[in-house]
Amino acid sequence: MNTGKKLWIPALFLVLIITIFLALPVYAMITEEIEEKQQELEEIEKRRRDEKSALEQRLNREVSLQQELNQLEMRVNELKAEQERLAGEITSVEEEIGQVELELAAAEKQLRYQEELLKLRLRAIQQHGLVTYVEVLFDSSSFSDFLTRLHNLSLIANNDLRLIEDIQAERDLIQAWKDELEQKKQRLESMRRQVADNEAELALAAEERVFILGELQGEIALNLKAIQDLENEAQQLDSLIRKLISEAESQFSGLDGALQYPVEAPTWVSSGYGWRRDPFSGAQAWHGGVDIAPHNGAANYILAAAEGKVIFSGWNGGYGNCLMVDHGGGTVTLYAHMSSLLAKVGDIVIRGQRIARAGTTGYSTGVHLHFEVREFEKPPVRTYPSGNGDYRNNPVNYF
Ligand SMILES: [Zn+2]
Repeated sequence: MNTGKKLWIPALFLVLIITIFLALPVYAMITEEIEEKQQELEEIEKRRRDEKSALEQRLNREVSLQQELNQLEMRVNELKAEQERLAGEITSVEEEIGQVELELAAAEKQLRYQEELLKLRLRAIQQHGLVTYVEVLFDSSSFSDFLTRLHNLSLIANNDLRLIEDIQAERDLIQAWKDELEQKKQRLESMRRQVADNEAELALAAEERVFILGELQGEIALNLKAIQDLENEAQQLDSLIRKLISEAESQFSGLDGALQYPVEAPTWVSSGYGWRRDPFSGAQAWHGGVDIAPHNGAANYILAAAEGKVIFSGWNGGYGNCLMVDHGGGTVTLYAHMSSLLAKVGDIVIRGQRIARAGTTGYSTGVHLHFEVREFEKPPVRTYPSGNGDYRNNPVNYF
């Protein structure tokens, strides 16, 4: 009996030593790998922050450029309208000038006619002057008759002269009116040229801004893509979690019953699950969890949603201080942005156990818990833009 016991003890000891020797490197390897992964995620987070602030600046610049451009375009349109108005005015002045020219031509024609008439009369007087003097003398019944005839002739000539003077005066008035219109037309044309110059200048400024805006929008697109790339990297967390689950060898077999609300009361839901405007970039983004904020931003305790094994406890890039609890059956709850972590990797936690304190670490805009429920043995809820399945379910359905 004694001998058997003596043999049994060293054998057990040997098994124990072998187990430790076998387990140690594996444990060390996992720890090293996790640390490496965490470092990687920290770098991602740093890059994301840099990208984010650069993007914010560019978005602000874009808004002000767009405003400037709108103002310039408005002014250009105003000037275009002004040009059109001036062109219209010029056209009507030109029409008026055309009308006046017709009047002027008519007056000139009348003048020439009257002048011809006068010439004919004067010539008649001249030609007949000497002859008529004699003729009138002999033909006239009396000298007074002769004088009357002569007087009548000169009266007619005088009338012709007055008529010519009147027509000349009228022609001069028309000419003055025409000159005035020509001057008006020239003034309008110079105004139109000025407006056209201003418009060209403004159009050039607008063109410059369109160019700058285009460049800026290109940069913004690159920025958004960078943020998207970083998000994709965050999606790749899935493979890490799957690996951790398989290594955790959980004795749990999935959730049974409702989940514990993971933040100590009083709380409020600061952002729901689903599509929302990203608080940093303003772009539409899928929110794969629910944000629960303690009242007044207090560092309330974070509670385990169900019993399980802690498979991750540490820094996780955009998630900040992060905890993951494996509940078995492919179900993992994830807690993010905490100020401090109380549970360690390998800890078995019970439902409602305090595992961390609320905070605002990582990609976060205020004290809150970002809470996810990932179910890897159920079909994915949706697919990421990358085409990968998204296993993050709406946590609200589990409470
Ligand atoms: Zn969140």
